[in-house]
Amino acid sequence: MFNDNLDVTEVFASNVFNDKIMKERLPKDTYRSLKKTTDFGEPLQPEVANVVANAMKDWAIEKGATHYTHWFQPLTGSTAEKHDSFISPTTDGSVIMEFSGKQLIQGEPDASSFPSGGLRATFEARGYTAWDATSHAFLKEDSGGNVTLCIPTAFCSYNGEALDKKTPLLRSMNAVSTQAIRVLRALGDSTATRVVSSVGPEQEYFLVDKELYAERLDLITTGRTLFGAPSPKGQEMDDHYFGAIKDRVSEYMKDLDVELWKMGITSKTKHNEVAPGQFEMAPIYATANIGTDHNQLVMETMKKVALRHDLVCLLHEKPYAGINGSGKHNNWSLGTNEGQNLLDPGNTPQENQLFLLMLAALVKSVDTHADILRASAANSGNDHRLGANEAPPAIVSIFMGSEITEIITKLARGEKHGDRGNSFVNIGVDYLPPLPKDNTDRNRTSPFAFTGNKFEFRMIGSSASIAGPNVVLNTIVAEALDEIANRLESASDVNAESAAIIKEYINKHERIIFNGDGYAPDWVVEAEKRGLPNIKSTVEALKSFISPESLDLFAKYNVLSKKEMQSRYEVYTEQYSMQINIEAVTALQMVKRQYLPAAVLYSSELAESIDRVKKAGASAAYQEKLLDKVSSLLNSASTKLERLEANTAKAQGLEGTAQAESYRDEVFTAMNALREDIDALEEIVPADIWPVPSYCDLLFQL
Ligand code: ADP
Ligand code: MG
Repeated sequence: MFNDNLDVTEVFASNVFNDKIMKERLPKDTYRSLKKTTDFGEPLQPEVANVVANAMKDWAIEKGATHYTHWFQPLTGSTAEKHDSFISPTTDGSVIMEFSGKQLIQGEPDASSFPSGGLRATFEARGYTAWDATSHAFLKEDSGGNVTLCIPTAFCSYNGEALDKKTPLLRSMNAVSTQAIRVLRALGDSTATRVVSSVGPEQEYFLVDKELYAERLDLITTGRTLFGAPSPKGQEMDDHYFGAIKDRVSEYMKDLDVELWKMGITSKTKHNEVAPGQFEMAPIYATANIGTDHNQLVMETMKKVALRHDLVCLLHEKPYAGINGSGKHNNWSLGTNEGQNLLDPGNTPQENQLFLLMLAALVKSVDTHADILRASAANSGNDHRLGANEAPPAIVSIFMGSEITEIITKLARGEKHGDRGNSFVNIGVDYLPPLPKDNTDRNRTSPFAFTGNKFEFRMIGSSASIAGPNVVLNTIVAEALDEIANRLESASDVNAESAAIIKEYINKHERIIFNGDGYAPDWVVEAEKRGLPNIKSTVEALKSFISPESLDLFAKYNVLSKKEMQSRYEVYTEQYSMQINIEAVTALQMVKRQYLPAAVLYSSELAESIDRVKKAGASAAYQEKLLDKVSSLLNSASTKLERLEANTAKAQGLEGTAQAESYRDEVFTAMNALREDIDALEEIVPADIWPVPSYCDLLFQL
C-alpha cells in the first residue's frame, strides 16, 4: 500500500486526471477548449470530448484500469457506480479498448431503483448521467487490484429534472456567483468574472474493532447501538481529545491519508476527538462541488480502509448513548476567480464595505431562512444531536465574535467605530512569542460561526452528504445578494446605499446573532423570546423544504423546481421512516433472540440456586432479591416489546408524513422505553452470558 519512504508529492493526485496530466496529454487546442468549459462553464464541443475521452482512457489503462464508471450522487446520500469495461469487439473476434466522447459525456445507467420521489413515474423511467467537467475524473483502486476510471457526473431524468445531489449544488453555485458578481460590479469591481463557493468539511468518525462489531446486529444494520448500559468510564476525563494517537489507529490514519492523497483529496488534519474511539479528519478546502465530491470519497474510503485494519468505521451521528456524537463542520466562504475572499475582514473591517455587506447578507439570509438551513441538516441520526436529550438545541443562530458584533451594531445604530488595533495575548513567559489576538474569537457551541474569513455550519451530521446544506447556503445568500445588487444598481450614491443596506439588515435581523453559550438552557428561553425557530425533529424540519417561501426561493434561482423540492421532501421523509423501521425491527430481533433469552437463562440459574441453597438449609436471600429484579425487568421488557411490535406494525401501515410522524412519536419512543429495561438487565446479568459486547468493549478495545 505504501512504503516507509513515501514521497507524498509523488503520491498526491497520482490517480487524478487533473490539469497537470491534461496539459501533458492533450493537444494544446483541446486543453484550451476544455479549460473554457471547466473554468467558464462554456458548452463542451463533441470533437473535444472525443480527444479528452481517448486521452483519459489511455492514461487509465496505463494505470491498470479495465473499466470506467459514471460516478454520481443519488438521493440516498451515498454514491453510485455501474462499471463498464473499455472492451469493444472487432470483426476478427478480438477486442480493442475504446472510450468515446459520447461515453464520457453522457451515460444512461437507467438506475431506476433509486428514490426519485415520484419524479420518474410519469415519464419514461430513464435516468441520465452527464459529465461534470469541473470535478476531475479519478481512479479508484481496491485491494483486489481492480482499478476503475470514475467520471463525476450529474444524474437527472429524461426531462432534465434533478435526481441527485450534485445537480442542484452546481445550479446553486451558479446562482450565488451571478448575484455576487452583480454586487461586485456595483461596488466597482470590473474584472472578477465568477464567484466560487468553497467548502472545507471537517469529518468526525468512530472506529470499532471488527470482531466486536460483528457481534452487534444493531451496529451492522443501523450503524448505532440501540442498547447498551453506560461504560464505567466515558469521556469525562477529556483524556482522549487530542490525545496521543494509538499505533493501530495511527496506522489506519496513515493508510487513509495515502488513499485520499492518491485521489487528490487534501487530507490535512487528523486527531483524536472527545469521545473514546472517536476521531476527525479535515481536508484543505476546495470548491463546493469538488469539496462535496471529495467528502463522499472520504466517507467511503474511511470505511474501506478500516476493514483492512480489522476495524469498522462508524459514520453514524450517534453510535453510542451518553458520549458525544459525530458531526461535520462545513466551513464555507465565497471567493472571486481572482482569489479575493469576500468574507475576509482585512485589517480594518469597519472600513471594508464589501465585507460588511457580505456579513449583512449572511445575517439576513440565515435569519430569514433558519428553518431551511436547519432542514438541510436533518436526518434520523442527527435527531440525536439536535434538540435531543444529550444534545444542544436545534436553534440556528450566528456567532460573530465580539469585535465584529461591535462593528456591525455600531453601524446599525449609526455610531462610529474606533480602530482598536491589533492586540496581543500575553502568555507571561518572555521567551514565548506574543500571539496575535484573533479578531474573531472562537465559540465551539454555535451552530453557525464566523471564524475569521469563513462561516462554519456545524449542524450537519457526520454521515450526511454536504451537498444539501451547501445548496441551501448558496441559494439563501444568492437571494440576499440579489436584493442588495438591485438596490446598489439603482442607487445614485452607492456608498450611502451600502451603508443604508447594512444598517437596515442588521437592525432587522440582529436577533439571529448570539455570541453566548449555545448549549446553555437559558439560550432556549432567550431564543424563543427572540422568535427564533427551535425545530426538534427531522420530520418537522423537513416540512420547511415545502413551505411556500422555500418553494418560491429555490424555483426563483433555478436551483430546484417546486416539483423537485416536493420530490426531495418525499424521499427524505420516507428515508426517515425506513431508517426508524430498520432500527425497530433490529431492536425487536435483538431483544427476542438475544437479550431476553440471556435473562431467562439467568433467571432459571438463579431459581435453581435458590432451590439448592435452601435445600442445604442456608438463606438464599441475595439470589431471591436478584431473581425478583430479573423477573420484574423481564415482565416489563416483554410488555414494552409488545408495544414496540404493535406500534411498528401500525406505522408500517401508514404513508408519507403521517407515517414518519408515527415512527417518531410511537416507534422511536417505544424503542427507547424498551432500551431502559434491557440496559438495566445488562447491569445485573453475568457478563459471560450477556450476548453482546458491552460499551466498554466497543469503546476502549482499539
Ligand atoms: P477548526 O477545527 O479550528 O475549525 P480545522 O483546521 O480543523 O479548524 O478546519 C478548518 C477547515 O476550514 C479546513 O478544512 C480549512 O481548509 C477550511 N477553510 C479554511 N479557509 C476556508 C475558506 N476560506 N473557505 C472554506 N473553507 C475554509
Ligand atoms: Mg471547526
